Amino acid sequence: MKLQPGTTVVKNGQLVDGTGKAAVPNAALVITDGIITYAGPAEDVPPAAEARVIDAKGGTIMPGLIEAHIHLTYFNVSELQDLDIKYPVEYVTLQSGVNAKTALECGYTAARSGGCLHNIDVWMKKAIEEDMIPGPRLSASGREICGAGGLMDWNPDYRRIGMEGIVFIVNGPEQARTAVRKLVKDGIEWVKTYPTGDAASPDINDHHTLCMTFEEMHAVVATAHNHGLKVTGHCRATEGIRNALKAGYDAIEHGTFMDDECLDLLLKRNVPMCPGLGFELFSVQRGKEFGLSQRVLDGHQETLEAGAESCRKVLKAGGTMGLGGDYGFAWTPHGTYAQELTFFVNYVGFSPLETITCATLGGAKMMGREKEIGTLEAGKLADVLVVAGDVLKDISLLENRDNLLAVMQGGVVKAGTLVKPASL
Ligand SMILES: [Zn+2]
Repeated sequence: MKLQPGTTVVKNGQLVDGTGKAAVPNAALVITDGIITYAGPAEDVPPAAEARVIDAKGGTIMPGLIEAHIHLTYFNVSELQDLDIKYPVEYVTLQSGVNAKTALECGYTAARSGGCLHNIDVWMKKAIEEDMIPGPRLSASGREICGAGGLMDWNPDYRRIGMEGIVFIVNGPEQARTAVRKLVKDGIEWVKTYPTGDAASPDINDHHTLCMTFEEMHAVVATAHNHGLKVTGHCRATEGIRNALKAGYDAIEHGTFMDDECLDLLLKRNVPMCPGLGFELFSVQRGKEFGLSQRVLDGHQETLEAGAESCRKVLKAGGTMGLGGDYGFAWTPHGTYAQELTFFVNYVGFSPLETITCATLGGAKMMGREKEIGTLEAGKLADVLVVAGDVLKDISLLENRDNLLAVMQGGVVKAGTLVKPASL
């Protein structure tokens, strides 16, 4: 991805640097050749000749947001079967490109995939890195892995249409290894698995059901780690979280029913977690409009309450969390990602500063890129968000793209209302 040549100074705003430190009022950010060279009080800015200036208009200068569990290939999903290979790969790829552009315009300068159809993420990542299309810096997942009969294995056998566009259905460790080896060849970074079910499938694969055996999960981890890939999983049930942590998973998605033993295991290896929890509240609030049954809604309510409690425990214990999750359903369309932050403040009870730290540095840690992005500190890539207004007073400002004055990647202004995108 190209870097902005020359020097840019962003000033006249408070600095929320993403580290969790208190905001610096009247701050300035200096960027040289796409890299941050200074972030701090305006009065201490080193003099720079011929700098272009971006006026934050008394608002907030903060790191670009990081979506820690994005599904670029999902769109308008209202039931699990909509995740299936409903459209050809050509159409899903185009839609994913649109979603990537939308995410960037919403202030998300990086994103970690939570799984995709076909092998679109890997190529989307390349297209974004090469500036072919605009989008967040991406950590690519690929097709997912689920045990036979589990959450993702919904097509009855008599249809014989297979699920290879979205998921590998595995029976035993041998098939789990085979699936990972295919993903190794696909070039992905994160192997996404389904250790447990979900409230969305109340009959045979609900949120307390296991969808993979420990042996299958262990085989996935051993094969993936051998090739330098990381492993994560959709973990709701307590036993699924425990199995994942014991099998050596590198991250936990959701971590819903987290008991003290799981919390200890999580903290011992500092395994990051992406709760993806707003989805549960929005499903409860809007699911009826989209035909979700009362049993499914009740399951989401139970998941919501347990998930919120887990998040509070992990935060209190000093664990690492990224924010984001599962946008692309009919009631949580792409472009509404930042409502996750408002939800964490209003419903879960995180402070705005804690929420922003999770949504920036936390996401960068989940991507394994915290040395390059996630905070505004000297030496890091200038992935910056300039927001009209005080996001610590009103976090919901981030939900409205009209409040984003500038969205920058490597110092290049890619979106926002204040300045037109710069041409290199
Ligand atoms: Zn997901």
